[in-house]
Parts: sequence; C-alpha cells; structure tokens
Amino acid sequence: MARVVALDVLDIRFPTSRELDGSDAMNPDPDYSAAYVTLRTDEGPDGYGLAFTIGRGNDVQAAAIRALAPHVVGRPVPEDAAALAALSSELIGDSQLRWLGPEKGVVHMAIGAVVNAAWDLASRRAGLPLWRFLAGMTPEEIVGLVDFRYLSDALTPDEALSILRKAEPTRAGRIAQLTADGFPAYTTSPGWLGYSDEKLARLAKQALAEGFDMIKLKVGGDLDDDVRRMKLAREVVGAGVRVAVDANQRWDTDVAIRWMRELAPYAPYWIEEPTSPDDVLAHRAIADALAPIKVATGEHVQNRVVFKQLLQAGAVDVVQIDACRVAGVNENIAILLLAAKFGVPVCPHAGGVGLCELVRHLSFFDYAAVSASLDGRVIEWVDHLHEHFTDPASVVGGRYLAPTQPGFSAQLREETLSQYVYPDGPVWTEVVA
Ligand SMILES: [Mg+2]
Repeated sequence: MARVVALDVLDIRFPTSRELDGSDAMNPDPDYSAAYVTLRTDEGPDGYGLAFTIGRGNDVQAAAIRALAPHVVGRPVPEDAAALAALSSELIGDSQLRWLGPEKGVVHMAIGAVVNAAWDLASRRAGLPLWRFLAGMTPEEIVGLVDFRYLSDALTPDEALSILRKAEPTRAGRIAQLTADGFPAYTTSPGWLGYSDEKLARLAKQALAEGFDMIKLKVGGDLDDDVRRMKLAREVVGAGVRVAVDANQRWDTDVAIRWMRELAPYAPYWIEEPTSPDDVLAHRAIADALAPIKVATGEHVQNRVVFKQLLQAGAVDVVQIDACRVAGVNENIAILLLAAKFGVPVCPHAGGVGLCELVRHLSFFDYAAVSASLDGRVIEWVDHLHEHFTDPASVVGGRYLAPTQPGFSAQLREETLSQYVYPDGPVWTEVVA
C-alpha cells in the first residue's frame, strides 16, 4: 500500500508588483505567491497543491501548512471518495488548529492546499484529470465528500443527492461536449487599476480579437477615473460585450450604491466584491438597489456557511468560488451544490497564480455532474504566470480547453521552484543587490 512519506512546503513568490499586474483598489502592489505543497509518496506519483497569497504572509501560510503534516505523513495515500472525505474531516476537525478559525483564514486555506494536493495525488493515480475523476463518481460518493454540518437548514444530503441524480443520466454527453468545446471564459487582463487608458483600450480590443465576449475592470479607486475608464471600455467593446466591474471590497453599502449608479449608464454586467465579503445583509441591500446589475462575490468568502447565507438571503446573483480560499475540493463541492439548489450560476475567481489551472477543473465538474447548465457560467481568465506550470491552463477563442493531463494541475516546474523561491531564489536576491 502506497503511503505519504513527507509533506514539503516551499515559499514561492513572483515579483508581479513591478508591472502592476494584479493591481486593484485594495491591493495596489501584489506579488503573486504560492505556499506550495508536495505530498511525497513511497510509490507512484507525488501530489501537489498550493495556497495563493499576494506576498508578505506567504511564510505564515507555509507555516500553517506545515502544522498539518502530522495528519498526513505516514498515512496511506487516499485513493477514493471515502478516503478523501476522511482526510478532509480529520484536517478540519483538528480541534487545536480549529480554534484559530473556526473554518476560516490561514489555517482553513492551509487545509485547502493539503486537501487539494491529496486530490491531485488521487486523480494522478487514477490516471485522470481531476474533473474527470470527480465526474466518474456516483451521486452517493459525491454527497459523501461533503460536510453538511451547518448546511442542513438550506441543503440536506437527500436534496444534494437528487440534484446529482437528476444530472447523472446526461453526464456523458456533457463530458463529451466539454472535451470538444471547452468552457466559456472572460478576461480580466485589460482591467487592472494600475494600467493606463491606452493599455486598457489596447487590451480590451485585443480581448475581442481573441474571441472573448466579456471583460472585467477593476474599480473603486477614484470615481472620475472609473467613469472615464468604464466609458472608454464600453466604447471600445460595443454594446454586445459584457463588462463586469470589481471593487475588491472597497466600499460601504451607500458608497457602493452611489458609485455604481454613476457607472450604470455604461451597463456594467456585475459588481464584484462591492463590500466586505462577510457582510451578507449589505450584499442584499446593494443587490436590491442596483438590480438588474448583478452582485457577485466569493473569492474571499471564507467558507460554505457564509455562501449558504448569501444564497439564503438572496444577496448574490453570481457565486465566485475560489480553488484555494476554502478547505479544498470537498468544501467547493458543497458550495457548487448549494448554488445549484438556489439556481445561482457559479463563475469562479481565477486572478492569482495557479487559480486558473485549478479552478477550471471545478467548473468542468460543475457542468458535467451538478448544475448541468452553462447559462450565465463563465470562468475568469488572467493571462499571467501560466508558463510556470507543468499543465498550464489554456484559453482559445474565449473558452477554456478541457484539462487532459492526470491530476489537479497545481504542479510548478522545477526551474520555477529554484528561480522564485523566497527569499533565496535569484529573482529575489538580484533585486536586493
Ligand atoms: Mg475579484
């Protein structure tokens, strides 16, 4: 029986702040970073996972991951749904570490990195990309992956089972469709707040030429700038293309409503993270005031319980899962099922290193086995840093291609690990000198 013999963690950082890639109203100078996990085994492939951070604090994130090692090292490699569910429960149930949350923040993200690495390992051993590995499970196995504690007032295991059973007879057709046609994408690349008007217009034009029918702009820095940039973007892309905006939590409720009313003449498709990701009632007030502009959030929603409340309150029109914010694949499946129950589309967040690579698997699985719909579904695409991965995400003609390599696509290339390791990699020492 194969066993996990070591859990290695590396602090990997990319100096993205030098070009203002990733800049927004709350995060002016991110250095996209990964607390990078390798689950080493005594037989067969290793497993890879990561927690995404934006620079300082990546060492803290790495320390939290190391604290989980005793749960994993020496364990038989989890290969099936039951073993992967047991690992997830054990990590979430560590009562001393749970005190630091519960189920939120650095420790929860660390659990996500380890759980995702275990899924990577299991799907590699099965010889399947993660989305196909998941889509090969029975409805009962999938329901067994989910922790329904704190959810059952909104979603019971029986309801989840009936959602999955309803989609099961037609799964194979959707898997074939995804394999042939991929999944719709939108691009955030034109819209970083630190970019000039000229760069915004050029990249928006380029996005249309590349086949995208939706782009996203960062907003929330300065109202006059936002009105000018939104007007410019609308002029460049025309009326038929969706332009979403993203405030990265910058506003109080009344400011969000006032600010968005100034942008409304240019028909924003959604307002993303208008305010604190913890504030369910504020999202509801903003959604009520701004309809038909949609309200989207999720990249900083800390766990399935807050997603549940956002959905129960009718506070979100778009659920934005993130592969590395919550406790990994298992909790994201809970969120996909909640969204399906409430009939709200899931449009994942992917602005960050590795997030496009990972989260595409979850959307492909969502369409294949859960929601069975592409209506209003679109995955964020940010065209940065993919070259560092052994199985990079790829978008052609405005659509994510189906992942085909075994695993969850989190593995970084060996050269990248040696170049970008912090603080001793050459990318960092050369700057200091
Ligand atoms: Mg965002």
